[in-house]
Amino acid sequence: MADEGDGMTIEVRRSASPAETERIGAAIARRLAPGTVVTLEGDLGAGKTCLVRGLARGLGADPAAVSSPTYVLEHRHPTDDGHELVHIDAYRIRSADDLASIGFEELLASGSAVVAIEWPSRIAAALPPVRIDVRIRHAGEDEREVEIEDVRPAQRAGTCASCGAALAAGSDGRFCSDRCRMGDLGRWFRGDYAIGRPVEEDDLSSDAWNPRGGGRP
Ligand code: ADP
Ligand code: MG
Repeated sequence: MADEGDGMTIEVRRSASPAETERIGAAIARRLAPGTVVTLEGDLGAGKTCLVRGLARGLGADPAAVSSPTYVLEHRHPTDDGHELVHIDAYRIRSADDLASIGFEELLASGSAVVAIEWPSRIAAALPPVRIDVRIRHAGEDEREVEIEDVRPAQRAGTCASCGAALAAGSDGRFCSDRCRMGDLGRWFRGDYAIGRPVEEDDLSSDAWNPRGGGRP
């Protein structure tokens, strides 16, 4: 979907220190709203976790609590708007069951967390088409090149603005489902933020996170 050309922006930043990479993360965070998926690609030691620390800072979560989710698949950090930053390390995810065990589908459908994913290529098929892709490359000892791509498929007449599926008669002309309406992240990322539906009390309850009623590892 990133090959559509229109509706996609790429920004490249240089970083000369971990602090600078964190600042880039914090700057990205200020353009995000709950529901946005941010993928982080890069070799070991590139600075993916460092950038997530910046996302945490920008979202009002505790940056010091951010570390690589090595022994668990994900870490959840409360943000100061009452939502969460969910930090997933997909390196160890080997099956759809692993993804299901962290309630990934429900997490995306709820639209109420910023979801940062290290090693996204491991779960490429499960990623929403609308998201922010960050790629970090070594460019010297402490130098890094940080590429930020706003992936947003262009909407064609009669197709869903989020997933591109054909729209049924009687749809609102933009989205094929509530899930896609909630997933219209590109709009949020561009700054013309509009909530697709009013926030409901359920959104903030733990049940909304895990409809199976708990049991995450
Ligand atoms: P990853 O999650 O990609 O494996 P980390 O963020 O855990 O990487 O670690 C990055 C390492 O690189 C840290 O030890 C950090 O101090 C170091 N580093 C050096 N320069 C930078 C930079 N410009 N940006 C981010 N990290 C840097
Ligand atoms: Mg890491």
